[in-house]
Amino acid sequence: MEDHVRVSDINNYLKCPRKVYYTYQGHEPIRTVTPSYVAALIIKEMAQDYADVVTSEDMGSSLQSLLDISAQQITIIYRNELSDIDPEIISQATSEVRSHLDEVMNGIQASMAALGVDRLLDIFTSLDVESILYSEKLSISGSPDRLLMLDGCLTPSVIRTGKAPLSGVWKNDRLRLTALSILLEDKHDSAVMKGVVEYARYGIVREVPIRRADRRKVLTLAGRVRKIRDGRLPDRPDDAPCDYCGHVEHCQVTQTLASRFF
Ligand code: SF4
Repeated sequence: MEDHVRVSDINNYLKCPRKVYYTYQGHEPIRTVTPSYVAALIIKEMAQDYADVVTSEDMGSSLQSLLDISAQQITIIYRNELSDIDPEIISQATSEVRSHLDEVMNGIQASMAALGVDRLLDIFTSLDVESILYSEKLSISGSPDRLLMLDGCLTPSVIRTGKAPLSGVWKNDRLRLTALSILLEDKHDSAVMKGVVEYARYGIVREVPIRRADRRKVLTLAGRVRKIRDGRLPDRPDDAPCDYCGHVEHCQVTQTLASRFF
């Protein structure tokens, strides 16, 4: 698996191709562990058990106990990222998530009304199978957050903790699902028709068809990632999200050196 491209590299490429470059150069991104970052991790853990909320007679209490359990377990699950974390940050993160619980509950209730309880339970219930995917033929690897069986087809699902678009799913999420679908098809030799995005902070689930144009795009992006991995420093995009990037220090050094010569 040494020279494979990860699905997360393709997602990083879409945010900024230079992120991929620095990752392959072995630069660990500098990440400040803020309460909001930890809150996102807690929400992602809670979402693993949203099926319990759907079947509960008291959804508010069920969400509250999911929050308590996830907050307790978060440093065990994210051992490396959260080593030496100040307990005050966990406490602030827990309060932040608590302030969203009503929104999550309203979203789950709306999803139950829109999709039906059985469908929503199918979406919130992962298959008990190995979900790490690797295609030797394509030299791409990745892992969905859940692997589902919907309408008799294997279906990848990703859990996102950021904002949900007003309708549909973000392009980056769609391409992530497309890449995972291609890997699933290669592993199981069966067509994947759709994927699911869970916007866990809002209790929203969205199904999205896997399109031919996106399949093409994923293969193109994987090729560009390979070129970067081979050592080509990409241009900095005009809209690069530098304010939130853990590579900003390397990137500025590179620019300063370059600007001496040009
Ligand atoms: S600092 Fe900006 S240009 Fe550099 S890798 Fe990060 S997002 Fe991209």
